[in-house]
Amino acid sequence: MKDNNCIFCKIANGEIPSATVYEDEDFRVILDLGPASKGHALILPKDHYQDVCALDEKVAAKALPLAAKIGAAMKKGLGCSGFNVVQNNGKSAGQTVFHFHMHIIPRYDGGPEMVTWKPGEASGEELEETAGKIRNEIE
Ligand code: 5GP
Ligand code: ZN
Repeated sequence: MKDNNCIFCKIANGEIPSATVYEDEDFRVILDLGPASKGHALILPKDHYQDVCALDEKVAAKALPLAAKIGAAMKKGLGCSGFNVVQNNGKSAGQTVFHFHMHIIPRYDGGPEMVTWKPGEASGEELEETAGKIRNEIE
């Protein structure tokens, strides 16, 4: 299903042009307009899913192997030494376009620095209590 008001539906289905690096029946992979590093790509399913929770399981099963394929091509084609797979769900998590997508961000020796956080601290008791709150809600 497509959403007529969604820009990523239009890009994924070729209605709006994009720098496309890969396309198959389920996905289009494009370059991000505001790249975090050279070659920053977005994997877009052609059907509209708001986020990972709404994603069709068959499409989901194809997404990670595709991420690996794109990352491997980046290493060969762009000379990056690694890549991050980033996927935001919800405004608080940094999602700005509400059509599921995965960022594939090439990482080069020497930078730029990104996708990092400062490790906090938690006791074993706190970890167990928190784990229980998640465990109890898994469907
Ligand atoms: P999010 O923050 O939702 O995880 O990521 C959205 C990404 O889409 C951002 O990195 C942003 O630069 C990119 N983006 C937004 N609009 C467009 C567009 O029209 N074309 C392309 N190629 N990228 C876009
Ligand atoms: Zn969409």
